[in-house]
Amino acid sequence: MAQAIMGQKELTAQVRDAGLCTGCGACVNLCPYQVFYHDRTIVLNACDIAAGRCHAFCPRTPVDLEALRERFFEASEFTPEIGPVKAFFITRAADAQLRRQAQHGGTVSALMSQALQEGLIDAAVVAEGRERFMHDGATVHQSEELRKRAKSKFIVSPTIAEFNRTARSQAQRIGVVATPCQAFALAKMRFKPELTSGDNPIDKLKLLIGLFCGFTLSWAKLIELLQTRTGLNEITGMEVPPGEGVLEVFTAAGALRFPMEEVEPLVREACRYCIDTTAEYADLSVGSARFSENWEETRSWNQVVVRTRTGLELMERARESGVLEFRDVPAGNLETLKKAALKKKKAAVKNLVEKSGSADDLLYLNAQDRVIAALR
Ligand SMILES: Cc1cc2nc3c(=O)[nH]c(=O)nc-3n(C[C@H](O)[C@H](O)[C@H](O)COP(=O)(O)OP(=O)(O)OC[C@H]3O[C@@H](n4cnc5c(N)ncnc54)[C@H](O)[C@@H]3O)c2cc1C
Ligand code: SF4
Ligand code: SF4
Repeated sequence: MAQAIMGQKELTAQVRDAGLCTGCGACVNLCPYQVFYHDRTIVLNACDIAAGRCHAFCPRTPVDLEALRERFFEASEFTPEIGPVKAFFITRAADAQLRRQAQHGGTVSALMSQALQEGLIDAAVVAEGRERFMHDGATVHQSEELRKRAKSKFIVSPTIAEFNRTARSQAQRIGVVATPCQAFALAKMRFKPELTSGDNPIDKLKLLIGLFCGFTLSWAKLIELLQTRTGLNEITGMEVPPGEGVLEVFTAAGALRFPMEEVEPLVREACRYCIDTTAEYADLSVGSARFSENWEETRSWNQVVVRTRTGLELMERARESGVLEFRDVPAGNLETLKKAALKKKKAAVKNLVEKSGSADDLLYLNAQDRVIAALR
C-alpha cells in the first residue's frame, strides 16, 4: 500500500476526529495553522494544501510498512515483535546521583549527555514538565540540563513539534528522546526527506533514543484524579511498578498509590491502537529492566535494544568511557520482552477491528502487510 499523502482536512478526519491522534506533535511547527494545547493538537486555521507534510509525517496515517522496514532495518536482524535487534543490554548510568534523578537507571540521560559532550549532537530535544502537570518539548545544549528533564512523564509531550522548531534553528546535529509513536513520525520524515528539505531538514537528526511505552494518560482526566489526593505542583514523579496493579505518584510528602482500575480509563484512546512497545524505529530503545522479583533493585537498571550502527557505537563508547555500567542479561529476558510486545500488537489489532467493524479495515494499518496479517 503506497502512502497517499493528503491534507489538513483529511488528517483531522482520519486521525484527530477518529481518536487516533497520539499527540506526538509531528504536525505542529510545520506551518502556522496547527498548535499544541494541553495534550492535543488543535487547528487554528484551515489549510487547503492537498498534500501536506502534516499528513505525510503523522504516525497515524497509512504508510507502506514493508518499504519502511526495507529502508531502515537489516533483514537478518528484524524480529516481528520488537523490530530490529543488533544487540541487547542491561545497563545503568555510572553516576549514582543521575540515577536518583532519573526514572530507572538513567541510561537515556547518560547517553544523551555523552552524545552532547562528544559533539555527536549539538542539541538534545527531550520532554519537560511545566505548570499544572502539563508537558512540553525542550531543546537543551548542555549535558547538565538533561538531568533536570529526566524521569518519565506519563502524559504526552509534543516532542516532535519541538524537533520541528529546533530543526529550523542554528542547531546542526540534533538528538531526540522519543516515545515509539514519536520515533515513527521521525522515521516517516526520514523516509520522505524531499518533503523536509529547505526549512525543516530531517538530515539534522543524528541520534534517536526511543523509550519503551505502554500508554500515556489523558492530561484532563489525570489531573482530575490527582487533584483528589495532592497538589499538581507537588508531584515529583510517577511509576507503574510491575505486577503491583497500581500507579505510584511520588510527592515530597510520600508516595500515593492509585489502583490501575482507576487509572485504565484515563489511557488515551490512541494508545489502544498502538502496535509498538519498544520504539522500533530508534537508534536504540530503552525501558525498565526485568531481572528479579526485587523491584527496588531492578528499578535502577534499564533494558536497551540496539538497532542501528549509530546506536551500537554510542553504547560501545559508553562502555569504554565508563559512563554506563553493564550487567549480564538473564536468560529469557529478550524473549519475555518479545512476548509482552506481541501482546500489545495483538490487542491493538483487535481494538482496530472492533473500531472499524471489519477485520480487513485496520484504519491506519495495512491489513495485508505481512507482519500485521500474522497478528490477526
Ligand atoms: C509515557 C511512557 C510510558 C512508558 N512505558 C513503559 C513501559 O510500559 N515499559 C517500560 O519498560 N518502560 C516504559 N517507559 C520507559 C521508562 O519509563 C523509562 O523512560 C526508561 O526506562 C528510561 O529510563 P531512564 O532512567 O534511562 O530515563 P531518564 O534518564 O530518566 O530519561 C527519560 C527521558 O525521557 C524523556 N521523557 C519523559 N517522558 C516523556 C514523554 N512523555 N515523551 C517523550 N519523552 C519523554 C525525558 O525528557 C528524558 O529525556 C515509558 C516511558 C514513558 C514516557
Ligand atoms: S502528527 Fe501526531 S499530533 Fe499530529 S495528528 Fe498525527 S498523531 Fe496527532
Ligand atoms: S502507547 Fe503508543 S501511541 Fe501511546 S504514547 Fe506510547 S507509543 Fe504513543
